[in-house]
Amino acid sequence: MKVDTSKCVGCGNCVPVCTMGVISVRDKKSYINQDECVECGACERFLINKKEPPALVRIARCILGALKLGYQAPLDACPTGALYQPDIEWPRSVRRSFSDPTVPHESTGIRGRGTDEIKTNDVTGRLESGEVGLVVEYGRPGIGARFKDLEKMSKALAVQNVEFEIDNPVTQLMSDKSTGEIVPDVLDEKVMSAIIELRTSIENVPAVLQEITRVAEDCPTVCSFGIATRCTENGDVAYEQLVKELGFTMSLNGKTNLGLGKRSEEAAQ
Ligand code: SF4
Ligand code: SF4
Repeated sequence: MKVDTSKCVGCGNCVPVCTMGVISVRDKKSYINQDECVECGACERFLINKKEPPALVRIARCILGALKLGYQAPLDACPTGALYQPDIEWPRSVRRSFSDPTVPHESTGIRGRGTDEIKTNDVTGRLESGEVGLVVEYGRPGIGARFKDLEKMSKALAVQNVEFEIDNPVTQLMSDKSTGEIVPDVLDEKVMSAIIELRTSIENVPAVLQEITRVAEDCPTVCSFGIATRCTENGDVAYEQLVKELGFTMSLNGKTNLGLGKRSEEAAQ
């Protein structure tokens, strides 16, 4: 995101709407830290573009300021429409596709983090009986994540007998899925969040969870992970005991899909 400084009147309305806290006002102009901006588009999307003439707004601010009467544009507006989204080229374009929920990922066609994730397994049928799906998420609004940190996790997991989910935009950015290496172009790019997604066998769950825990210790951002499988015919969760023995608590907020979704023809085959 950029600011047209010839239009910006420094009202500061864009500062609190930035999801990453990277906008500040300096010398009466809005300033966006381009290295930290994840191109989520929220600042432009959430502020009404008023398109008032900048010169008029500046004069009003000066006169009212001299009279010790503050000028404040409506808080939900950029009074002069100074924020704009320029064309974004590769590799910076990955910031937008991972962070702007209105933009679908080119590799999967899905908006947001770009994956249906394993929680929709009742309709996608990604996981078969005996398989366990895991997701490792890096970043959140306010902190974000860089691909060089995700790569540390994907490389560590690649040697743990896992298979990275193909319908996932992080997997699509890997130059080598057998090593978990991510294309070097994007390693310094920052996104709001991104998800590594993989499957493995139930027997391999302890080794994978231990590796996730080890690598997450040095993670410079927020790291969370989820695990899922098909229930057995008795309604049991096959990995429950294994996970508890490793010291993890099974969340009561865990999602249990009841199979009420309509499974696609493709998934049923
Ligand atoms: S809301 Fe618009 S005019 Fe106000 S500081 Fe931000 S970019 Fe400048
Ligand atoms: S695009 Fe997102 S991260 Fe960048 S300045 Fe706007 S709100 Fe902040």
